[in-house]
Amino acid sequence: MGRIADNLAAVRATLPAGVGLVAVSKFHPIEALAEAYAAGQRAFGESRVQELTVKVDALPTDIRWHFIGHLQTNKVKQVVGRATLIESVDSERLLSLIDREAAARGVVQRVLMQVHVAAEETKFGFLPDELLDYFRARRFEHLQATHICGIMGMASNTDDEDRVRADFQAIADLHNQILRLCPDLRGFDTISMGMSHDYPLAIAAGSNLVRIGTAIFGQRQ
Ligand SMILES: *Cc1c(COP(=O)(O)O)cnc(C)c1O
Repeated sequence: MGRIADNLAAVRATLPAGVGLVAVSKFHPIEALAEAYAAGQRAFGESRVQELTVKVDALPTDIRWHFIGHLQTNKVKQVVGRATLIESVDSERLLSLIDREAAARGVVQRVLMQVHVAAEETKFGFLPDELLDYFRARRFEHLQATHICGIMGMASNTDDEDRVRADFQAIADLHNQILRLCPDLRGFDTISMGMSHDYPLAIAAGSNLVRIGTAIFGQRQ
């Protein structure tokens, strides 16, 4: 086995049943993804639209592509239909553009709402209260061709494990609060959190989808 296959096996061995693995392949070459594919990996995460489209065209069609980066509104057309799951919906405007494009193409686009709880890291994502307002007002009922499957978030980038635990707990709690507000929401069951350095803490807090890059592919160029 090659190094990537070894890393994949080592990561998989640490994941409890019911926790999905997205191999975050951004900035890594096609050959690296092909090695992971040969080792059985089928879900890959990309954060840039141009890179996504090149890789989609070059690799087998049974790969499930997760878009995990900030999606600019002028690039929505290139991602809808290509990505199995857009994990990084960070504004209502982006969501309506995705919905409009999916409806125009006659597809149903699956998405996650990105929530911002971390101290820094990214400026993208809904604040927890914004997301609660969105669901309390049932604005998702306007969607025609988009299925909101859950939420995605990141913890603060810090060595302070208590802070990281608290961030993941806040994301998991938010998921529960949304389900309590809208018990009729269907298939709102994904909690995507946890990266190479913090995914065990994320799983302990309730993550059922981890996004792991460095621990599989090594450092990005
Ligand atoms: C890059 C990235 C990851 C993977 O990070 P690693 O530390 O390499 O595991 C996960 N999630 C998002 C949103 C990312 O941008």
